[in-house]
Amino acid sequence: MAELLFLGTCAADFSPRLQTDLSDRFDKDARRSSSALLAGKYLFDCGPHTPDALKIADVDRKEITSIILTHLHPDHFMPQSVKEVLAGREENVKLYVREDADVPQIAGTEVVRMKNLVPYDVDGDLTVTALPANHDEGSFPRHLYLEYKGKRILYALDGGWMLNAAFNFLRDKRLDLLVIDATCGDYEGDWRMAEHNSIPMIRLMLPSLAAAGVTDGHTSVYLSHLAPSLHRPHDETEKIAGAFGAHVAYDGLRIEI
Ligand SMILES: [Zn+2]
Ligand SMILES: [Zn+2]
Repeated sequence: MAELLFLGTCAADFSPRLQTDLSDRFDKDARRSSSALLAGKYLFDCGPHTPDALKIADVDRKEITSIILTHLHPDHFMPQSVKEVLAGREENVKLYVREDADVPQIAGTEVVRMKNLVPYDVDGDLTVTALPANHDEGSFPRHLYLEYKGKRILYALDGGWMLNAAFNFLRDKRLDLLVIDATCGDYEGDWRMAEHNSIPMIRLMLPSLAAAGVTDGHTSVYLSHLAPSLHRPHDETEKIAGAFGAHVAYDGLRIEI
């Protein structure tokens, strides 16, 4: 078993309440910048709210051995947040980025550049493969295929639909967990389809992913990276997603895989 902790599940439309009455707690409708922690050790993305979220979730920052970035948009990567997360550490922590990503030097990190579609052994337990993603190319986007102690996970934030090379790589993987971009709500006609998913897009994709063996009946599907301004309240969105067998992530949610 492995635990995945959702530290943040928002697109970039953050509530001002995160600076005031919600500064020290999670709220399902005032989401923080998207980030997640696997097995207490592997941090995926480190945006503006990640240090606060780690504090609220009572995570021991010293246990984090690696930071793995999906892309460089400021809601996913903020050098100052990386510094805060690593404050007080003596040994370097590895920062995994796409091979051509233009990242600044950050004290306390050792940059590991990953080619797409090549598995990288991260600290023994975890293998990460970067997959091409349909998102702003200037942010060096990729999705992350993870294998951790026999469990198979796709962390697919941000991105709209799925690119051919990623889809072919994922065929017959029968994921244990799929975390998928759901920036846009339950309506049609949004202009963001070449960089983000809406709920109708996900509704169409899931049966096709199952038909290709990317998922099967045992796969848990979680929507994340939701824009609160484009969605109904969390509890209603859960009902909408539940109707097609998916869950909706929220900040502070811990799931066992
Ligand atoms: Zn984002
Ligand atoms: Zn982005």
